[in-house]
Amino acid sequence: MPTEKKQASESGKISEASAPEVLENLVRLAERAGASDIHLQMRGKLAEVGFRLDGIITPGRELPAEIAERVFGRIKFLARLKTYQETLPQDGRIPRDELKCKNDIRVATYPTVTGEKIVLRLFNSTSVKALDEIEFPENARAELETFLRQTSGLLLLTGPAGSGKTTTIYACLRHLAELGGRHIITVEDPVEQIVPGTMQTEINEAIGLDFARAARHLLRQDPQVLILGEIRDEATAQLAVRAGLTGHLVISTLHAGSCKGVFERLLAMCADHSAVASAVELVLNQRLIRKLCATCDGGVCETCLHTGYQGRAPLVEWLRVDEKMREQIRRRELSAIGPKQTLEASARSLVNQGVTNEAEFKRVFGL
Ligand SMILES: [Zn+2]
Repeated sequence: MPTEKKQASESGKISEASAPEVLENLVRLAERAGASDIHLQMRGKLAEVGFRLDGIITPGRELPAEIAERVFGRIKFLARLKTYQETLPQDGRIPRDELKCKNDIRVATYPTVTGEKIVLRLFNSTSVKALDEIEFPENARAELETFLRQTSGLLLLTGPAGSGKTTTIYACLRHLAELGGRHIITVEDPVEQIVPGTMQTEINEAIGLDFARAARHLLRQDPQVLILGEIRDEATAQLAVRAGLTGHLVISTLHAGSCKGVFERLLAMCADHSAVASAVELVLNQRLIRKLCATCDGGVCETCLHTGYQGRAPLVEWLRVDEKMREQIRRRELSAIGPKQTLEASARSLVNQGVTNEAEFKRVFGL
């Protein structure tokens, strides 16, 4: 149990507030901070409250017994769920007007051994960021822009879930659309944001429309740029490589821990190593690191929900494939293949600039 308890209300008079007021305050706090979710977990008659801000749940708040159950009831009422149902999961939606918030809120309840758990998902409507808004290091952005002006070749992004790959891909997509003049097709799972000037499609595995099948058909739509959400299997890998070699600019993601890992996986999925060596132009491995809160500069304030951090910056390492590397890839000699600047170096420079701090550096790298 966290030792420090913070009242979930801004006024500090939570026990006197009504359930609707408490709920509105929670949503307002979350929206102001830019949190993505509010977690409410019943423990006996109390409810623990956590906000997911920049991917991390802030601990240490709770709703007192006299208010907790009424807040849970209020949420279920607004989401048109059965208020008496606590033993089965329920999903619903609260329209934005009901809570005077910016967007609809998705509600998911689930029974746990200590009581009911409710997650409120806030849809903070963000527009697609431009390449110069994603805070890439200058040299990494320049590499990306150079690649995006090419007419063929493969760009592969890697990094764990929640490392900002999707944001980077959408920024690339927007950049390509703004450059204009090319037929741009995406295959996504799912489409998260709409980018005007492109043809966006989704896979549907329930009916057998996976990445490989969708891409095979879409290549007949004569795209110059093909964005594939993810390379998960051999068929997709071979298709992406072939497309990159035959006059298409291809962008995709692949699960691997490093730039070298991208080649290891790709070579394992494509028997034609020569084709892999010729197709891949740029590999990018990224993570996200939390930035110190601009309002309190790493102290504590309401804006950052007492975490000291708000917003995240990408850490990027990348590898531009040159002729020497192509030869190494062809021979599957990957030991010498690595990025010029590592993720750690990228993070260290942000610590030195005061964008983030040592504690966050250690958290990101598990030190
Ligand atoms: Zn702050």
